[in-house]
Amino acid sequence: MDRFKNTKIAGILGIMGNIFLLVIKAAVGFISNSQAMIADSVNSASDIFASLMTFIGNKIASKPGDENHNFGHRKI
Ligand SMILES: [Zn+2]
Repeated sequence: MDRFKNTKIAGILGIMGNIFLLVIKAAVGFISNSQAMIADSVNSASDIFASLMTFIGNKIASKPGDENHNFGHRKI
């Protein structure tokens, strides 16, 4: 498996795992009225954003070279 494929899988797993954590933490936080748990679910939301940026950045970087970028887009 190549590097871009591995990074893509890591991004997708990061997004799915953090959605799972977000839902569990938010549910438990609201049920138990725990502000700490609710705040931690917001932190998971920001982790989803970070994983999404990994996914998008990787997608752009995996583009092959073109007329303007002869060596590919890996350094994006
Ligand atoms: Zn280009």
